[in-house]
Order: sequence, then C-alpha cells, then structure tokens
Amino acid sequence: MPELPDVEVFRKYLENKALHQSIKKMEVLAKNILDNVSEQQLQSRVEGYEFESADRHGKYLFVKLSGDDHIVFHFGMTGYFDYSKNGEIPKHTRATFSFDNGNRLSFVLQRKLGKITLTKDIESFVKKQNLGPDILKNSFDLEVFKKAIKGAKGSIKSVLMNQSRLAGIGNIYSDEILFQARIYPTTKASELDYKRIRIFFEAIKEVLKTAIEKQADPNRMPQSYLLPNRHEGGKYPMCGGKLKSEKISGRTAYYCPECQH
Ligand SMILES: [Zn+2]
Repeated sequence: MPELPDVEVFRKYLENKALHQSIKKMEVLAKNILDNVSEQQLQSRVEGYEFESADRHGKYLFVKLSGDDHIVFHFGMTGYFDYSKNGEIPKHTRATFSFDNGNRLSFVLQRKLGKITLTKDIESFVKKQNLGPDILKNSFDLEVFKKAIKGAKGSIKSVLMNQSRLAGIGNIYSDEILFQARIYPTTKASELDYKRIRIFFEAIKEVLKTAIEKQADPNRMPQSYLLPNRHEGGKYPMCGGKLKSEKISGRTAYYCPECQH
C-alpha cells in the first residue's frame, strides 16, 4: 500500500516525465474514483492546460495545473502512475491524461480505493482532511514531533499511523520505524522518555530518507531493515530470530519481541 516514500517516488516520477506538456484529453474510466468533482469539471480544468509541478502532503499528491487548480491524487491500496507512448494502457487504469506530444499518463489502481479531486489551495485541503504535519518536510523537527504525539492514547504504532497526528505513515513503514528505533509497537506514547522520543524521531527521518533513496523498493533496502526480510520464513536482521506477526489495531504488525522493548 502506497505510503509516504512510495508517493514521494510517484511525485518525482510525474515531475520527471509529465510536466510542461499540453494535455489534449483527460478520460475517467471509473467514475467512482472521483471525489466531489465531475468528469466534466475535471476536463474543463485540465484539457488545454499543463502540469506545472507536484507537491505532496502525507499520502496525498497535489499536481499543480497551469491555471489555479491542483489535481489531488490518493493512491489507495495499490495505486501508481504509468507514463508511456499512447497505445495500450495498463490493466486497471482508472484515469488517463493524453498529451499533445502523443504520450499518456495513466492513473492505475488495481483496487478502486484511490481517488481524484480538485483543490485551489493545498493548505486548506490539508486542514479540511485534518492531516497532521508531513513528516518529510524540513519543518518537521523534534519539537513538532513531540507536539504531534502529545497526549496520544493507544499504542505508539497506531499513533504513528494516525494521519491526523502525523501524515504519511501506514502499516509497513510504522513497523520499520519502530524496529529501527527498537520500540515495542504496543508501547504507549506517554511511556517514552525524552531520549527514546529523540531516537524515535531520528528513526523516522532515517527510514524515510533511505526508502526514498531506494525508490521505495523493499528489495533494495539495507539488510539491517525489516522490509527485505518481511516475508514468510524471514528472519530478524539483528538477532536472527524467526519473524513473528501479530494483529495490532487491526493490522498485521511485524516486530521482534527480543530486540524491541
Ligand atoms: Zn530481534
């Protein structure tokens, strides 16, 4: 499921491939991905315009159009972009943007959980969705982190995945961050002392940086990470113990009962 590092990789992909090309036609192949906007509205704001830049907040991608609007993409459980020569579109394509130069950007979702909408203002969109601070931004520092988790009840894993506290992390990267910080996933946020909060914060920054460098590809992550070992028969990279999983807050969490506490 696309989390912050994946969406950051999609943002760079779109910026590398699809900026400054006049959009000839936009088509929506599955209307249920549209949120609060009609296909006609979208087409009128998109066709004849260009993509100018792409921003991200948490798991949301904002693509600035020439004109005032941003198209907002959410990748749901399985989404990604495909930019290629006009021809066959990938299976499960839900929307396409065809450019004057004969290329096309496809928004692909195997399961129809992603969405597209429009906004004129990223800041007010973020506020309306009640999203917490984006954890990749430079402005996300230790003080902002402490404030974001202050007073949180429930396990630290669920706090980390709560988009209204911290925007960007889901099940997979929360496991990785807690593993790197050696924090047991059901620990309460209020139980962490200053030293552990600092280690936690540094693990967030480190895991995000590494994941984005490796194109969010689990197989390219360092062997000291949980991600490349996160499969049946996998072993913990630190202690060599056999991988265990458990349902925490309704999600299958991987953690090491020996190394994390
Ligand atoms: Zn271990």
